[in-house]
Amino acid sequence: MAADIAIHDAYVLTIDDRNRLYERGTVLIEDGRITEVRAAQDDDADIAADRVIDGEGKLVMPGLVNAHTHLELTPLMGAFSDLDLLEMMGGMTAIYGQIAAGEYDYLTEAGYELAALNFLAGGVTTVNSMDVRPSAGAETFGEAGLRGFFGLALSDLFWDVPVSEQFARAREFIDEYHDTYDGRIRATITPHDDWSCTRELWERTAALAAEYPDLLVHTHLLELEASNTMARSNGAADSLDLLDDVGLLDDRLVAAHFRLADEADIRRTAEADASVAHCPSIFCYWNTDGDVQWTPVPELRDAGVDVGLGIDDHYWHDSYSLFGEARQARLAANLKRSAGQYQSMELVRMLTIDGAEALGVGDEIGSLEPGKRADVLVVDLDKPKFTPVTNIPAQVTNNAGPADVEMVIVDGDVLMTDGEIETMDADNVRERVESAVERFVAESEWELDIGGSDPPSKLDLARDLPTRGPSQLLGRLAFQSARDKFPF
Ligand SMILES: [Zn+2]
Repeated sequence: MAADIAIHDAYVLTIDDRNRLYERGTVLIEDGRITEVRAAQDDDADIAADRVIDGEGKLVMPGLVNAHTHLELTPLMGAFSDLDLLEMMGGMTAIYGQIAAGEYDYLTEAGYELAALNFLAGGVTTVNSMDVRPSAGAETFGEAGLRGFFGLALSDLFWDVPVSEQFARAREFIDEYHDTYDGRIRATITPHDDWSCTRELWERTAALAAEYPDLLVHTHLLELEASNTMARSNGAADSLDLLDDVGLLDDRLVAAHFRLADEADIRRTAEADASVAHCPSIFCYWNTDGDVQWTPVPELRDAGVDVGLGIDDHYWHDSYSLFGEARQARLAANLKRSAGQYQSMELVRMLTIDGAEALGVGDEIGSLEPGKRADVLVVDLDKPKFTPVTNIPAQVTNNAGPADVEMVIVDGDVLMTDGEIETMDADNVRERVESAVERFVAESEWELDIGGSDPPSKLDLARDLPTRGPSQLLGRLAFQSARDKFPF
């Protein structure tokens, strides 16, 4: 028996079909793959492996999958925390408009580095990110040894960048980065959402998707009342109808949110074998409308839809903890209904295998099973906070956090041991992030210091906001709402 890495006598949470959990288990890794997962034997400490890890008091589990996120503005942690909805939206839209116009590359590059550093340290081994300038993201995550799906956000009503230029950039990105870094980095086709895109944009997206049949189509759907209003303005009955019309409602689709999904939407999504990314922290934080403040995750899961968990804009709610999304998913569901909406193991599955399935890579990662790529976490349970070690799935979802992750392995490579990251220079990243934020504060109207943040005045924001796209967007929504109320 030979191996590159052997972890023995650990608690092992396999997340296989039977949710097998070993009290004393052994995991062997060779050539980037998991070769054995089994009960520990007495002589496992003597296994001939390059690296033999005594797992006593440790939990071995699959790497976490962040199924929906945006990474470029990571250095602005703390900037949006205390803003109201309009300030938050206005501030973000203005910054994104400027990034799309080619500004602030120093900020976005530092953002990818800071995101990679923190997500890696917290056990997130795969991200699915939608960004404006994704090349730096693909390179940063690729070089850090992580897995990432990256796509360039396309929209014709959210900002003023000419559509043909957006599609040219998207195609360039796909051609350069899809399936690079040993297949760990993959490109996606990324129409931004169902409330800021016209039918023409969706049709063009469908044509691009037909050109690249291996790529996922990643978007935001059914997030706002405006989602279905815009779909009607685009000549469809509702949001999913529009996707179906243009030929994008299928198993390549992974859509964040689904807050407005009704029974028919759930059925159609399941029939199409499309997937959903549930981002409970952002929807609790950024509450656009309390009456629709709910995503029917249990119903989606019952219907057979793969639902992963996403941290979304983590710099709004100031958290890198994907474990926290499992806890928040439960809190949001129990608040809406009653206790017992999820079994803890279901939430652990959403953090791992279900996220992997949603991204179409459930046969490669997401569980500890022989033959799968070795994306593995070692979590330290030998702490007062985990004493006594009972109900490990509940401890993982309700109690564990990024600081409990001790070792991270991706594709069989050890990226972090004892909390030390081996593939990134953490001090350098921190310095670059600090100077990027200093420069951003000097160049923009934002104030951001140890006491808090102050966004630009409404007047300054108005100057920086893209105008053509958003004014068309608001005009179309107002016109359609009037039409819905007074059909003519
Ligand atoms: Zn998002």
